[in-house]
Amino acid sequence: MNSIKLFSISIFITFSMQSQKKEVQIITTKISDQVFMLKGQGGNIGLFIGDDAVFMIDDQFAPLTPKILEAIKKITPKPVNYLMNTHWHGDHTGGNLNMQKEGALILAHKNVRKRMSVDQVIRGKVKKASPKEALPVITFTEDMMMHINNDDIYVSHIHKAHTDGDALVYFTKNNILHTGDAYFQGKFPYIDLSSGGSINGYIDGIQKMIVLANDETKIIPGHGNISNKRELISFKKMLVDLKSRIQTEIDNGKTLEEVKHNKKITKDYVSFNGWITEEKIKIAIYKSLNK
Ligand SMILES: [Zn+2]
Repeated sequence: MNSIKLFSISIFITFSMQSQKKEVQIITTKISDQVFMLKGQGGNIGLFIGDDAVFMIDDQFAPLTPKILEAIKKITPKPVNYLMNTHWHGDHTGGNLNMQKEGALILAHKNVRKRMSVDQVIRGKVKKASPKEALPVITFTEDMMMHINNDDIYVSHIHKAHTDGDALVYFTKNNILHTGDAYFQGKFPYIDLSSGGSINGYIDGIQKMIVLANDETKIIPGHGNISNKRELISFKKMLVDLKSRIQTEIDNGKTLEEVKHNKKITKDYVSFNGWITEEKIKIAIYKSLNK
């Protein structure tokens, strides 16, 4: 290949990367007078506003912070006071350093701080430790309450679900639940085994959400669209079915390869195919049960 051709290819790659970044738009959805959902690239952001403080849940990737702040300005002129991380993954904590500089106090489960403090390996790639300023400064172990903006916010840890540091955030008076990645609306979930996630913990977490929610509860999932209790119940059924089918295969001595290629296991749930495919969810459940 001659150098001109190489040069033009590299220009094309640079150009298409830039245009991809430019295309990300922050879409704001008003869920109640006080709670908003912001979608961009990465995990869904929750925003809670009122007289006392601006409370944000997750912050996507660092390069998106200016756009996210612009979208927040359209909702409130006030700065973000509190930022809750639902877990340590980069598409939920990537903006931490920027938000800390904006004056936000960062809160999370203790394992979020622990994992962000040191290098992590995720899907075979090393994710470098975050700078001190990007780490949560207030951490909790099981649960906590926050009393701001005339609501009582229940923050609760879910054991070993998507990761080992998951938190769900329930605005009790607004009756709105932010689940983080402990719930993927309409899609097979990503169970991060290398970060302490498990199929049993994931199902327990969904059950906890079902108990918290009533028929009017609006649910902001980590990924996907605004959801409800009815969808949570069918999501749980899908996971319980897959778990029991894969457990049967394991009991019958089937290997991971055999389970991976067994289409019958997921036949009722092909509509849940997404970034996590049928194969990927079968592998995760098999490995989780076989530990
Ligand atoms: Zn995640």
